[in-house]
Amino acid sequence: MKPSEVFEIVKQSFKNGRMPHAYIVCGSPRGNGLAIAETISSFLLCTNDAKRPCRKCDACLNALARKHVDALWIEPEKKSRIISVDVIRDQLLHWEEMGSYVGGWKIAVVLFADRLNDNAANAFLKTLEEPGERTLFLLVTDKPEALLPTIISRCQRLDLNEGRIPPAEPWRSRVGDIMAHHAATSALRVFATAGKLADLFAEIKEEAEKLSKEQKRESDLEEDKETVDAWISARSKEMRQSVFESIRDWYRDVLVLCACHGPKDGIPLFFEEHRARLVAKAEKLQTRRAVQFMDYVDEMERHIEVRNIRETIVFPYWFTWLK
Ligand SMILES: [Zn+2]
Repeated sequence: MKPSEVFEIVKQSFKNGRMPHAYIVCGSPRGNGLAIAETISSFLLCTNDAKRPCRKCDACLNALARKHVDALWIEPEKKSRIISVDVIRDQLLHWEEMGSYVGGWKIAVVLFADRLNDNAANAFLKTLEEPGERTLFLLVTDKPEALLPTIISRCQRLDLNEGRIPPAEPWRSRVGDIMAHHAATSALRVFATAGKLADLFAEIKEEAEKLSKEQKRESDLEEDKETVDAWISARSKEMRQSVFESIRDWYRDVLVLCACHGPKDGIPLFFEEHRARLVAKAEKLQTRRAVQFMDYVDEMERHIEVRNIRETIVFPYWFTWLK
């Protein structure tokens, strides 16, 4: 979403009296994420009801200068580069307990929210569970996947990453290689593709476990098994999304090549490195069929992620149809 669209969502919620207690702003804490946080804080604190934010009243100017008494800004400590539990307790919790100084809204902005260590995140979570009235939290991060799932589930998400987020590496390239070799000419070939993708999923799980272990080591708290499992599962899911998005990109390329009747050289592709292979596949395909393939990929993802059917069953089934 563009910043203007994100801001519009916040404005509408405010107008309708349905302001959530917290937003996760997915954007750069030094760039677009910071800018929208400043806009939202001046919007909430502005005293000029006719035109919020007016950017002229004292409240607006103080908010934009990050000097407003009812706006709290938290950032990682320079040395440790984390946001510690002490900061959350001493600054945020203390600040939250006090009423608004000028009698209006209060806003707390946490920049680089992914740097909250586990103790700090858990302390913060308590605040989210029992939020004060007319208090808004903004968690700004470009790594939303690094937040605790329990925090994510209590916040509304505002995504500033304009357009689509490209699938993460190395999964994107791996999927490209697998798709380039996929052929549904025999059961054996289908099982070869399905097997490679299932292997990829196993690797993703290992990677997620490794990342979670590192995360646990960095924090000074003994996490219970449930929290760690939630972490692993959230991270695996993010990476699996990259896999499905990559498969979709593959068939988007096929579709766009299919639908083009003139010279195909100038058409930009997601999988430029496999252009020759993609052109060859598209030549044998009707556009109508290529459109169906996109639906098949959605079905595959739904079966695995929503209906929890094992990938070892789902992949061989759907890849038989992806001819
Ligand atoms: Zn103003």
